[in-house]
Amino acid sequence: MTTNLLEFDLDGLAAFCEQLGEKRFRATQLFRWIHQRGASDFDAMSDLAKALRDKLKGCAKVEALPVVSEHVSSDGTVKWLFDVGDGNAVEAVFIPEDDRGTLCVSSQAGCAVGCRFCSTGHQGFSRNLTTGEILAQLWFAEHSLRKRFNTEDRVISNVVMMGMGEPLQNYAALVPALRVMLDDHGYGLSRRRVTVSTSGVVPMMDRLSQDCPVALAVSLHAPNDPLRDNLVPLNRKYPIQELLEACGRYLAHAPRDFITFEYCMLDGVNDQLEHAQQLIELVRRSGVRCKFNLIPFNPFPASGLLRSAQNQVLAFSKVLSDAGIVTTVRKTRGDDIDAACGQLAGDVKDRTRAAERMAKQRTIVLKPVT
Ligand code: SF4
Repeated sequence: MTTNLLEFDLDGLAAFCEQLGEKRFRATQLFRWIHQRGASDFDAMSDLAKALRDKLKGCAKVEALPVVSEHVSSDGTVKWLFDVGDGNAVEAVFIPEDDRGTLCVSSQAGCAVGCRFCSTGHQGFSRNLTTGEILAQLWFAEHSLRKRFNTEDRVISNVVMMGMGEPLQNYAALVPALRVMLDDHGYGLSRRRVTVSTSGVVPMMDRLSQDCPVALAVSLHAPNDPLRDNLVPLNRKYPIQELLEACGRYLAHAPRDFITFEYCMLDGVNDQLEHAQQLIELVRRSGVRCKFNLIPFNPFPASGLLRSAQNQVLAFSKVLSDAGIVTTVRKTRGDDIDAACGQLAGDVKDRTRAAERMAKQRTIVLKPVT
């Protein structure tokens, strides 16, 4: 059996090399070839001894995920669909901006959380990605973009774990992948430039704060439990109060001194000014330092939800800003290639009967404000 070396963080690769009778510094050289130079051909790794290269050829490989499709938006956003086998495909999106290049990475084929406004959630859950499948998205994107832009400089400066899936429900694979992103021999990204986005898996937020504290974004989307129970079903397990307490604990270890709260603006559901007032009270009571990122909803038919009017989004934003809360409205990028937030659908063999769960959720009548 050949082992895909993208599955390993540096410690894992060192352990693998040790089994081959090789010292750690050889693993470091190999790791740099793979992640810093994008090499997959062992023969090209010129400073490795021929004997080691021959050993590696017999038992290892560096293998990207097959690319099903690539779409480039008129604004420069690039979306890839990767085949992860058994009829499943996941997406990654590169978003270029003047001062940074951000890659949005998937952590699962589908998602079991089932947020109402999320097209991934509507597809149900198939399986967790492995560390190698998470890293393959970054490895492929970084090195194919370098070729495209004809540069040897780093193209991706930021990674957000905001693609398909709830990363904290795939913790064991996530953490080694984060370590490779942060490793100076890997991608060398600062902790502030790697963001894990969670719908609020409280125990795993606490573990992440200990194991690998990176920037944290929390999908809040509602200012009270009845509404959030409906929009983000995980709230029934970890309600808002518990979630905010976990945010406070996380901040003691976080590389940034604030949590980003993501808030998808849904017409007539969570976008009223009373909701903004409730958010202000919530944040004040909790004492959690935070920023709000308001996300214009990208409607898809199965959701039964609509995008808030632009003037409503601006009015909502102003209420939060006037209360001293830094608030941004996310620019929609890659609209013409369905790469905007919440539009990543991939292709998932649902093993969770998501359609039935969604149908049940839709029968719950949402009160405008509670
Ligand atoms: S928003 Fe995130 S956690 Fe919710 S269903 Fe979509 S992928 Fe899963």
